[in-house]
Amino acid sequence: MATNRKCPECGAVINGRTDKKFCSDSCRSTHNNRENSDRFNLMRNVNHALRKNRRILEELNPKGKVTLPRQKLEERGFNFKYFTNMYRTRQGLVYLYCYEHGYLPLEKDYILLVRWRDWPHP
Ligand SMILES: [Zn+2]
Repeated sequence: MATNRKCPECGAVINGRTDKKFCSDSCRSTHNNRENSDRFNLMRNVNHALRKNRRILEELNPKGKVTLPRQKLEERGFNFKYFTNMYRTRQGLVYLYCYEHGYLPLEKDYILLVRWRDWPHP
């Protein structure tokens, strides 16, 4: 069966063994290096977003507990997609944390900010 597989890096038709994924060692390493650096960039961006989130929570919550409009966080660029851990109370409330700083979404677009006192231990 003629497969006509193409190298995902340069598009050249691949000859030889059917388990060969790239046309050459050079294409394979170029491809793998780029994938690794994409992964690295993603991790770096997530780490950055988490640190920024933590800083925003810390700045808005100097006393360890405060209720604010959600908009206050949004204005500063808080990214609700990223958090480090969650804590579910027996009542089923879910607190989301960025390191030792956490929050609980309340009704009417308000947010309760809290601090985990014994971080990093329970
Ligand atoms: Zn190639």
